[in-house]
Formats: sequence, structure tokens, C-alpha cells
Amino acid sequence: MITTHHKKLYEGKAKILYSTEAADVLLSVFKDDATAFNAQKRGTIQGKGAMNCTISSHLFQQLETAGIPTHFIEQLSETEMHVKAVSIIPIEVVIRNLAAGSLCKQTGLELGTLISPPLVELYYKNDELGDPLLTLDRLLLMKLATSEQVAQLAAMALKINDILTSFFQECGITLVDFKLEFGLDHNQQLILADEISPDTCRLWNQSETDPSRRVMDKDRFRNDLGEIESAYQQVMQRVLAHSL
Ligand code: UDP
Repeated sequence: MITTHHKKLYEGKAKILYSTEAADVLLSVFKDDATAFNAQKRGTIQGKGAMNCTISSHLFQQLETAGIPTHFIEQLSETEMHVKAVSIIPIEVVIRNLAAGSLCKQTGLELGTLISPPLVELYYKNDELGDPLLTLDRLLLMKLATSEQVAQLAAMALKINDILTSFFQECGITLVDFKLEFGLDHNQQLILADEISPDTCRLWNQSETDPSRRVMDKDRFRNDLGEIESAYQQVMQRVLAHSL
């Protein structure tokens, strides 16, 4: 629980980060607040903080077991996680297995088109600019990362995609696309940070074919599909019931 030892370091749209007694450990508290379309749409999803914290904790543990270094240390309560302090690289790494969202809008590809091999895309994490798609040259120009770090990021993202795709398959869920964030720890090592949850992934229920009914992620909020809490709940139950 949050005490006087904790100083608020950063408040984002879905989480608050606090310092702890240990310099290299932070407390991440997951909120029920939901935003979409670069925060133009705002709302609350009841119980989201607890569900996303629990789903993320389980997925980070699965990834650690599979050899991916993450910032996860332990889940403290329903909504709280201890994480390693990292400096976040301001790049959102999106991996796509099926076409959806902005890719469909910008390319005209039909929703659900298989993307093989998966696409790795890099976006500039900057709300004021609306998180624009980056090119490698722009990224290097802006010194957001080195080309070695980009190569390492992309390789890690594809490995994470393999692990998570198999994991969700076991859960009867198709991993359509998702967003990752990476940070550098005190040894300048690249580690997976942020969260992996229905807020940051597109997840389709394999037992539904209807394009609205199959959605188990934040698209239910983005597109006013209703039954958001029960969809997140269903993801949590299935995720917790499976281990690699
Ligand atoms: N995503 C995210 N945060 C963002 C942008 C995208 O978590 O700021 C996730 C989104 O939930 C989806 C994937 O990244 O799973 C690809 O999103 P897309 O580029 O299609 O953007 P959208 O149209 O959803 O804004």
C-alpha cells in the first residue's frame, strides 16, 4: 500500500509511478481510467486497474520464464506492482499479426488480413505529436535510440510475439496486435517495461466469429461495444488458468 515513503514520480493515463525505499525499485499503481484516440475519449472501466495489473503480472512472469528480461519484480496487491526502475525509451513498439486499427486506416488493408511474417512498427511516444509513426532515419536523427538498440528492440519484440501468440492460443484467444515499451536499466541493458494487458493488445475470442462479439480488448471501449468489464474479466480468467 502507498505510504509516506512513496513520492509520486509520474502519472500517466493508466498508471501512477511512485518511488520506494529502494532507489532501483518503483511502485506502479494501475488505474481504472481509460482513454482512447490520444485521450480525446475518456472514461472509467470498473475494476480495470486490478485486472490489468494481474494480467500483466502473469504475462511478465511467463516471459521471464521464457528468457525475456522484464521490469517486473512482484505483484503487491490487486492494483500494485513493484518494478525495476528504468529509463523508458520513448518508442512504442507495435507488433502486428493481423491487420487492424491504424494499419487498416492508413493502408486500406482489410480488417483481419494475415500479416506473415509479423510487422514490427515504431511510433514516437509523444502525446502532443499524437504518437507518429517513425522511420529509422527520423529515430536516429532525433537520437531516440541507437541503431543497435533498435535492432535489439525489434528482435526482442518478435521473440515476445512468438511467446505470447502461443500463450494466447492456449487460452483460445488470437493475439491480433500489441504495443510494447522498453527501458534501460542501471547497466544500460534493454528490458521490457510498461504493461501487457487488454489496454495494449488486440485480443479476439476464437469461439466467436462476429466482428463485434469476438473483441476482448480496449476496442470495446474505443468503439462503444459495451460489456467491457466482462471482456477484461474473461481475458484475466483465461490468462490466469494457463502457464507456459
Ligand atoms: N496501442 C497502445 N497504445 C497506443 C497506441 C496503440 O497500447 O498509444 C496498441 C493498441 O491497443 C493495439 C496496437 O497497439 O493493440 C496497435 O494500435 P494501432 O496502431 O492500430 O492504433 P489504434 O488505431 O488502436 O490507436
